[in-house]
Amino acid sequence: MAVVAVDIGGTTVKGALFDADGTVLDRATVPTFPVGATDPGLPGGVALAAVTALVDQLAASATASGRSLSGIGLCSPGLVDAERGRVALAVNLGWADLPVAELLADRFGVPVALDHDARAAARAERAARGAAGRSVDEFVFIPIGTGIAATIVTGGAIVHGATGGAGEFGHVPVVPGGELCTCGQRGCVEVYASAGNVLRRYREAGGSLAANTREVTELVGTDPVADRVWHDAVDALATGVVMLTAVLDPDAIVIGGGLGEAGERLLAPLRTAVAERLQWRSVPAIEQSLVGAGAGLAGAALLVNSPVHHPPVKEP
Ligand SMILES: [Zn+2]
Repeated sequence: MAVVAVDIGGTTVKGALFDADGTVLDRATVPTFPVGATDPGLPGGVALAAVTALVDQLAASATASGRSLSGIGLCSPGLVDAERGRVALAVNLGWADLPVAELLADRFGVPVALDHDARAAARAERAARGAAGRSVDEFVFIPIGTGIAATIVTGGAIVHGATGGAGEFGHVPVVPGGELCTCGQRGCVEVYASAGNVLRRYREAGGSLAANTREVTELVGTDPVADRVWHDAVDALATGVVMLTAVLDPDAIVIGGGLGEAGERLLAPLRTAVAERLQWRSVPAIEQSLVGAGAGLAGAALLVNSPVHHPPVKEP
């Protein structure tokens, strides 16, 4: 038996084949929008064709190793209705009200489960925290990558919200009248602190020494442009974390995603900035993710064994 997990992103679709013990047997990554790809004229368009091709590849890998595919776990950005297996809206994928789980269940003949990428990642984080003896009932998981989301875990449960839209932490406005965000608001956390926006702001401020976001973080302390951009990113995140703390009273704030790999370069100034603001109360632990950038995939694999899944439609 084997499970295919797929983490669908706006730039790449990442997949992995897991055995029953959760060991990774194979991995694959394809571009979400391959250069020169033409729209197949099917629901989900180019992006779903990329997902299907990736699952094809990993299913073939399962067969080649003598294993049968027992399920597919997917995670997607956007507004995701996990219960119905639909992506209500994912602008970066060109999806609106797309029954992704059903389409793939019909195509591959196995149960398919779907959840929001940050919530799937939080499942993996919760499992890893439990295994490490850390608190699992009251924490907020914030993966920082191309975008910024947050998954709220309270009373041990993952919060989905009325429309599946809970946790859009990246679109909390924290700078009144600030820079314009892709969502149409101004001053969102994401405009200052997502990996892509840190690099964009570094370049727009005249920075020339870094080729990517990681290099910007490494220049902090030696390059005044990097210092300013990083200060703004930490400041925006801190204001958001203070809001989350005041409202939810979490035990821990867990930072993950690609920018989470910056480790103490991000966490140390963030702890200081949060503590400066929250002098009236205790401050939650601010920790690095235990599962790292692969959390989405690990969480998608865990979904297959969750109660919410979509069986394939049987041929009449
Ligand atoms: Zn926004």
